[in-house]
Amino acid sequence: MRAFIPEYQLATPTSLTDVLTLLNQEPGVWKPFAGGTDLMVLLEAGKLAHRNYINIRGLSELRGIEATETHITLGALTTYTEVQSDTILRREFPMLCQAASETGGLAIQNRGTLGGNIINASPAADSPPALLAYDAEIELVKIGGSRWLPYYGFHTGYKEMAIAPDELLARIRLPRNSANVTHYYRKVGTRKAQAISKVCFAATGKTDHELIDDTRIVVGSVAPVVVRCAETEDTLRGRKPDDETIRTACASLLREISPIDDIRSTAKYRLQVAQNLLVDFLTTLRS
Ligand SMILES: Cc1cc2nc3c(=O)[nH]c(=O)nc-3n(C[C@H](O)[C@H](O)[C@H](O)COP(=O)(O)OP(=O)(O)OC[C@H]3O[C@@H](n4cnc5c(N)ncnc54)[C@H](O)[C@@H]3O)c2cc1C
Repeated sequence: MRAFIPEYQLATPTSLTDVLTLLNQEPGVWKPFAGGTDLMVLLEAGKLAHRNYINIRGLSELRGIEATETHITLGALTTYTEVQSDTILRREFPMLCQAASETGGLAIQNRGTLGGNIINASPAADSPPALLAYDAEIELVKIGGSRWLPYYGFHTGYKEMAIAPDELLARIRLPRNSANVTHYYRKVGTRKAQAISKVCFAATGKTDHELIDDTRIVVGSVAPVVVRCAETEDTLRGRKPDDETIRTACASLLREISPIDDIRSTAKYRLQVAQNLLVDFLTTLRS
């Protein structure tokens, strides 16, 4: 049943400073409202417990995609459509573009934002695996300062994360070091479009003289948070991607993820699919 609209407040300050001032004056009272594609679903279902929102959609400070020699930086309000249209992202960060193209339908891609996807903190979200595999950093801003931190480690538990009530996610930064990197992204859902992931797998890999030099392996929908499989990455370093290495890596992966049975899938299916995707990814490193 839809929520009773007069119980909600939506403030629309016109500058970033005004937004941050409100967050600072009444911490925890106000929450950002970006594209609204997660929040409106809860509202429609009568499950939106929090009452006061700040509309941040018009803030130009949180928009735009900028490239320097070393990084590409995306405003938190960058939409999935904008991600897919960017030439550098398409060339150097194809997994992020693929995640964007497989997120919802066109309406969601036009409206939903990367910042909203991160802070909504669903373990089944599709852009976080790509962002983690690309070693993203995020910028949190508040009145009087800002801080950059690695995205890896930001989510500390189911829907828990290292952001204070007076902070806003402002930007996401990706290091441009994708030369000679293999990119591997698979979203496995009930169907090809408009489906929530049963398993989402994003990985990057580099080899040197047939030996695995560096990998980043990230799996979504298999734990309370999206999991970067650091132990599995360590296991692979310096080894040939042969059958024995793949077996060792699969055993390690199974120790790092802890899927559950839920409405979308079973733990058994998720474990099997995650392993299959790891095998497929490591096999691509052979050629
Ligand atoms: C039909 C449908 C299909 C979908 N399909 C997918 C899918 O395939 N894959 C997927 O991953 N998601 C999917 N989603 C979920 C949703 O579209 C995404 O999570 C989207 O990125 C959310 O962004 P938003 O701007 O709409 O967030 P909002 O709904 O505005 O906000 C979400 C949360 O983030 C907070 N927030 C937003 N921006 C900031 C900020 N800058 N700083 C601090 N807090 C902030 C809000 O307070 C709120 O708690 C789908 C949703 C719908 C309705």
